[in-house]
Amino acid sequence: MNCTRFERWLWDEIEGRLSAAQSQAMRAHLQACPRCQRQWEAAQATYRALHTLPRHRAPEHLVVQMRTHIQQASTPKPTFAWWKRVALAPALGLLIAFGWWAYITRTQDTATPSAIAKQPTENWVEVHEQLEVADWSPTANYFITTGYTR
Ligand SMILES: [Zn+2]
Repeated sequence: MNCTRFERWLWDEIEGRLSAAQSQAMRAHLQACPRCQRQWEAAQATYRALHTLPRHRAPEHLVVQMRTHIQQASTPKPTFAWWKRVALAPALGLLIAFGWWAYITRTQDTATPSAIAKQPTENWVEVHEQLEVADWSPTANYFITTGYTR
């Protein structure tokens, strides 16, 4: 028994909620520790003073309210179970596989000869049209590297 445990058990001892062995350990510590002895006396005085106060019955609606609060607080919150975590791995694998498959089929679609022939040229024409609207004048080096002609 140390002072920390004594303090933790103090009110349980006063209210008679400790086991015989625990109670005996408390008493043994009390005899050896003047600091805890002072705490023990203060706690007992507080306990007695509290019991001299007049008792009032709580209103019925408050009792019901408190019981509901306690019940809500004690119901276990849903946790992310381990089996869900385990199930997540294959689901993630499937998602990646699907993503890869979608990517492959898309690139294969655009890889058809006509698409290759059309798309980049159309894009370049569009870019150049926009640049001309913006009054852009390309350098000589640009004509050489892109092969672009006005
Ligand atoms: Zn002590």
